[in-house]
Amino acid sequence: MSYREIYERYVICDKCHTSLSVDDATDEDADNEAADRGWQCDGLQGRHYCPLHWHVECHDCDVTDVGSPDELEAAGWHIDRDYPCDSLCPNHRHLACRECRKWDVGPLHRLEYEGWQVNADDFKKSLCPECVKNKKETK
Ligand SMILES: [Zn+2]
Ligand SMILES: [Zn+2]
Ligand SMILES: [Zn+2]
Repeated sequence: MSYREIYERYVICDKCHTSLSVDDATDEDADNEAADRGWQCDGLQGRHYCPLHWHVECHDCDVTDVGSPDELEAAGWHIDRDYPCDSLCPNHRHLACRECRKWDVGPLHRLEYEGWQVNADDFKKSLCPECVKNKKETK
């Protein structure tokens, strides 16, 4: 054979154009390979972001931010690593009631105003307004 074609595929970061070689993987395998290496693959929009440039969007207020997941978490984001568009910005908290499993999402000050008793160490162990009330009544 006089010709040989080498086919190589790269996943490119839409933000900084860093490339990741995935050999001759199919689209789907390329995404899996990239995800294994900490890349964000947005299947819907066909975008890819390197581990330093994840795009997250608060599903409660549409605020967006860019950065490495660790960096974003340090800044107060609550990141859903499988679905970065379901992340929560630093202003929005997902509280769950430890008694009745009711949950709510919103800025802490609003939730507190509505009567939530917020457990800052573990938001999933907070108390919803109704359970706070019930507790008071049984005292
Ligand atoms: Zn990048
Ligand atoms: Zn938000
Ligand atoms: Zn409750």
